[in-house]
Amino acid sequence: MISFCPQCGHPTHQRIPAGDNRKRNVCGTCGYIHYENPRLVLGAVLEWQGDILLCRRAIEPRAGLWTLPAGFMENGESSEDAAARESREEAHAHADQMRLFTFIDVPAIDQVHVFYRGILRDGRHSPGEESLETALFSEARIPWSQLAFQTVRLTLEHYFEDRRAGEFKPRRLLTGKRAKRLVRWTV
Ligand SMILES: [Zn+2]
Repeated sequence: MISFCPQCGHPTHQRIPAGDNRKRNVCGTCGYIHYENPRLVLGAVLEWQGDILLCRRAIEPRAGLWTLPAGFMENGESSEDAAARESREEAHAHADQMRLFTFIDVPAIDQVHVFYRGILRDGRHSPGEESLETALFSEARIPWSQLAFQTVRLTLEHYFEDRRAGEFKPRRLLTGKRAKRLVRWTV
């Protein structure tokens, strides 16, 4: 929530702009409307010789816990580019053969988490600045009790379920408090 206008620096106030139906942060001086909308988090499930690449987080939230490489999408990049970039930044990992896998609405925190799946190009990985360590885990050794995020857990569960079934099915999921329950669709 901002309280000063990013355009002119004067104070902003919560009100419903003309023609709108939600409260927005509106500048009392220049009239600039500061819209806040959900953010996209892009990540990747990268496999190498049957194992999955995870990163142990060096930063909050959930520092010390394990996650798939993932982070906020940047302006000017595609969703696939974002997933590949996060893999490079957090694990110095190069992704190949990327396919859309999970699309997860997280309305409780105003985010959408999207995971691609792909191949870890050469098996190489090492921790980037936001990771304490990186490692390849077999399905049996995934640290389920030390995963950082529910969307990572869901994505890994579906990944192994599909891999056992011999067919990967892209999915859309709805999670979080406002959803009351987990809803799953195959897309
Ligand atoms: Zn202003």
